[in-house]
Amino acid sequence: MLTGCRLVVVGVLLGLLIPMGSANGERLFSGNEARPSDAIVLFDGKDLSAWVYIENGRPADWKVEHGYMEVRGGSIRTKQEFTDCQLHVEFWLPLMADAKGQKRANSGVYLQGKYEIQVLDSYGLRSGDVDCGAIYEVAPPMVNACRPPKQWQSYDAIFHAPRFDDKGNQISKARMTVFHNGVLIHENVEVPGPTVAAMPGPVTDRGPLMLQDHGCPVRYRNVWIRPLSPAQ
Ligand code: MG
Repeated sequence: MLTGCRLVVVGVLLGLLIPMGSANGERLFSGNEARPSDAIVLFDGKDLSAWVYIENGRPADWKVEHGYMEVRGGSIRTKQEFTDCQLHVEFWLPLMADAKGQKRANSGVYLQGKYEIQVLDSYGLRSGDVDCGAIYEVAPPMVNACRPPKQWQSYDAIFHAPRFDDKGNQISKARMTVFHNGVLIHENVEVPGPTVAAMPGPVTDRGPLMLQDHGCPVRYRNVWIRPLSPAQ
């Protein structure tokens, strides 16, 4: 039988434990504590030194405050390039109540600078292949896993780069598995080629991570990648 003192101890412990699993499960898939020890940190909340503008290669100058970066002045890409990888990125959409469709909190996360996972305010919609979570014009998400604007959301993706033989002929296409807020929305989907507004240049087996400026003040935080093949 629990004494009063033990009950207090148990109560304190429960009080400590219960907040670790929030009602929406967000902490399983977000926050710095979820970052694996082998992750390459691309944005830690303060430092944009891993990023440059696509247009001119100059250091990225998105607004950085309160642990996030906010779209400003053009699309950006990482200096580092990757092949097969696991990606984690968190994003926050402004409420743009007067905007519709592709003008409503649009941005995008491009693997290899070529393959976009769409970022958009698609909360409550029947998702098509240009809505939030879509591989743009390739595949709609299996389910709409969007949160309302002004809440942090996450993408976790497993990306397999195109493969080439010794002569440089492409022998396989990019493939993506994506979780949106912890919900599986794409399972090993083949991406036939670069999506709209991809970085220019040929398809290769490597490329940077790109975040799109589509004229909306979208925010990102806690961006990391785990390379899944050697020599990246
Ligand atoms: Mg977009």
